[in-house]
Amino acid sequence: MALYRLIYVSQAIAGLEYPDLVNILEKSEQNNRTVGITGMLSFGDGMFLQVLEGSRRVVSQTYNRILLDKRHVNAELIEFSEIEQRDFGIWSMKVVQMDSQPQIRNIILKYSSSETFSPISMTGRQSLSFLRELTELYQKGSISNN
Ligand code: FAD
Repeated sequence: MALYRLIYVSQAIAGLEYPDLVNILEKSEQNNRTVGITGMLSFGDGMFLQVLEGSRRVVSQTYNRILLDKRHVNAELIEFSEIEQRDFGIWSMKVVQMDSQPQIRNIILKYSSSETFSPISMTGRQSLSFLRELTELYQKGSISNN
């Protein structure tokens, strides 16, 4: 079955807190595992950047559901394309909180004009490279889990 990748950016509502992220992660892991979606959700400076991988149908259904969620607004689709293989297959979903760990700040700076996490100003290629590098850091154990 053809595989697809979807990347979008959105803005968290004011007052979104750590327990909300935990809730989103738990629900996402549970739902995504059932339908074969893998991916990563990065969060920082009030912004989300998420990648979803899976069949076209389940990625579309999941994205449509995510868009209705009142915990974020102003979603913008960055990419929806057919892919040969998964890049984020180790996680049904992983939430990465952008924080002061130097390795994370270095990657942000590598793909942005400042150290502020601003995925809205990244190109599609930059956002994918950014997410891939974050994954590599986790796999190497170079950054700690939140
Ligand atoms: P339920 O969990 O029973 O939710 C029913 C409804 O209530 C939904 O409309 C839901 O949006 C809303 N809701 C639930 N909890 C809250 C809350 N605490 N505050 C406000 N509204 C709430 N889901 C996935 O399955 N996979 C993902 O990869 C994924 N990524 C997400 C990324 C972001 C940035 C956000 C904000 C949400 C994400 N979600 C994801 C959650 C998704 O938006 C839905 O909430 C979830 O899929 C609904 O699951 P459910 O059908 O079991 O319904």
